[in-house]
Amino acid sequence: MPFYRAWSTAKPPPSPLPEPKAVPVMPKDPSALAVGIPLQELGLYTPPRRRTPAAAGKQQQQQQQQQQQGMRIVISKPNSSSSSSSSSAAAGGEVVDWGASIRAAWEISERGGLSLLTTFLSSSTGLAGYEAARSYADGRSVSRLSPYLHWGQVSVRLMWQRMKIAKAQSMSKTFHRRLVWRDLAYWQLHHWPHMASQPIRTPYRDVQWSSGPEAAAHLAAWKQGRTGFPLVDAGMRELWATGWMQQSVRMVAAAFLTEYLHLPWSEGAAWFHDCLVDADLAINSMMWQNAGKSGLDQWNFTMLPTSKSQDPTGAYIKRWVPELAQLPAAHIHAPWEAPAAALAAAGVVLGETYPHRIVTQELSELRAVNVRAIRAARASAAAAGLADGRGYDLLVVPQGCTLKHDGKKTVVFTKEEYRQLEGPITATGRSSAAGAGMVDEGEEAEDAEAMLSDWQKKKKQKRSGSSSSKVTSTSSSKPGGIGTGKRGGSGSKQQQRSRATFRELQQRTMDDFMAKSS
Ligand SMILES: Cc1cc2nc3c(=O)[nH]c(=O)nc-3n(C[C@H](O)[C@H](O)[C@H](O)COP(=O)(O)OP(=O)(O)OC[C@H]3O[C@@H](n4cnc5c(N)ncnc54)[C@H](O)[C@@H]3O)c2cc1C
Repeated sequence: MPFYRAWSTAKPPPSPLPEPKAVPVMPKDPSALAVGIPLQELGLYTPPRRRTPAAAGKQQQQQQQQQQQGMRIVISKPNSSSSSSSSSAAAGGEVVDWGASIRAAWEISERGGLSLLTTFLSSSTGLAGYEAARSYADGRSVSRLSPYLHWGQVSVRLMWQRMKIAKAQSMSKTFHRRLVWRDLAYWQLHHWPHMASQPIRTPYRDVQWSSGPEAAAHLAAWKQGRTGFPLVDAGMRELWATGWMQQSVRMVAAAFLTEYLHLPWSEGAAWFHDCLVDADLAINSMMWQNAGKSGLDQWNFTMLPTSKSQDPTGAYIKRWVPELAQLPAAHIHAPWEAPAAALAAAGVVLGETYPHRIVTQELSELRAVNVRAIRAARASAAAAGLADGRGYDLLVVPQGCTLKHDGKKTVVFTKEEYRQLEGPITATGRSSAAGAGMVDEGEEAEDAEAMLSDWQKKKKQKRSGSSSSKVTSTSSSKPGGIGTGKRGGSGSKQQQRSRATFRELQQRTMDDFMAKSS
C-alpha cells in the first residue's frame, strides 16, 4: 500500500489560521467570570495512583515463589488503577502518585510543545541530526512532539508549515515520511475499526500465543522492566516513569514481547496505551499489529533485545537500570555473559541486585516458536482463499479504502519465512544485527520486498548460474541466519565474501529505494 506516494500527490494542507489578536469575549473584570470547580471535586478526575515498580518487582518475586510452590497466580489488570492499587496493598507495596514523574518530565502546555518544536527545527542535534541519530535510545535527535501532537497542543498544520520554512524535507526525508504515517494510522483505524484488538489479517486470529502462569509472569516482568534484558528493562522503566520511549526502543520492547516471549501483541498494545503520554489508538494499534505480524505492514526485520547500536556506550541503560551503572559497556547489554570478576567489580549479583534473564534459551530458538505458531495459523489461509499461490496473504480491502482495490482481495507483503509453511526458519529482511539496529519500519516493507525481488531477478538474469545461486542461498539462510543476528555455518571465504557483498548491496538497494520513494 504505497500510502506515502498517494499522499505525495494530494494537495498540500492549508496554512494554519493566524493567532487571534484578542480573546473574543473577555469581560473587563475577569473576577466576574464563573469560578471553576476542580474536576476532582466533580468526581471526574482521579489522580493516577499505582504501585512503584520496585514494589511491583517485589510482587513479581512473590509470584515466582508462589509459582514454584504450585500456587495460583493472579496478575492485576493493567488498565484498572483501582485493581492495581488494591493488589499493591495486598503486596504491601508503596502506592504513589504515578503522575508525579510524568509531570516532571514534560512541560504540559502549548508553550512547552512550541518550544520543543522550535528547538528541534533549529538545533544541530534536532532535525539536522535526525537521519543519522534518530535511532539512539536516548532520543537525542527526535522531536518528542508526539504527546503534543496527540493532545492537540501543537497542531500538525502548524508543524507542517514550520517544517516547510525550515526546509525539513530536504534535511530529513525520514522525519517527513514518519509524520505522514500518522495519517496512515488514522486511515487504517477508520477502515479497520477493530484493529486495537482484532488482527487485520484474519487468519492470524488463530495464532496460539503462550498462556498460563509462566506466560503471566513473563508479561508482568516485561511491564515492570525486570526481564533481565537491560535494554528492554531500561525502555519499560522509562515508559513507566515518563510515559515515553524513543521509537527503536519501543520496537525492541514490542519485538521482545511478541517474537521472543511469544505473548499476544494485544497485551503489549494495552500496556503501552495505558502508559504512553502519546497513547494514540490508531498509531499504537498499527504499530503493535505490525509487531505481531497481523498488520498491513508486518515487520520484515527483527529487533534483538541485546542489540548495542541504539545505546553503544550503555549510558541509556545505566540511566534507567542503575543497578548496572558500574558495568562496562562491553557487558551491559548481556550481563549474563559477563565474567564473574566484571560483575563483582560492578557490584552486580544476578538474581539479587538485577534479575536473571526470564528466558535463557537461544534467541533464535525462542523466535522459531513464534514463527511456527504463525505458520500454523496461516496453514488454512490458502484453503480459505486468504493466501495466494505464492503464499502471500490476501486481504479483502474494505469499501471506500482505496480507489483501485475496494472490496477486492489484495496481496499484502508476507515474510518469506511465513510464506513457506514448513522447513527451516529462514528469516529475511533487515535485522538489528545486520542493519546495526538502525532500521526503518512501516509501510515501505511491501515495496522494499518487491523491489528487492525485482533486483534479485535482474541480477540472476545477468549473472552466471553459479553466482546467482549464491545470492539465493544467502537470502534463504539457515536457522540463526540474518534475521536472528547470527550466521549459520560460516562457509568458505568466497561464500562469506559473497554474503557480505549481498548484504551490502541489499542495504544499498534499500537505501536507494527509500530515497526514491520518500
Ligand atoms: C510498539 C509501538 C507503539 C507506538 N505507539 C505510539 C502511540 O501510541 N502514539 C504515537 O504517537 N506514536 C506511537 N508509536 C510511534 C513512534 O514510536 C512515536 O510516534 C515516536 O517515538 C514519538 O516520538 P517523537 O515525537 O520524538 O517522534 P519523531 O521521530 O520526532 O516523529 C515526529 C512525529 O511523527 C509521528 N510518527 C513518528 N513515527 C511514527 C510511526 N511509526 N507511526 C505513526 N506516526 C509516527 C509522530 O506523531 C511523531 O511525534 C509507536 C511505535 C511503536 C514501535
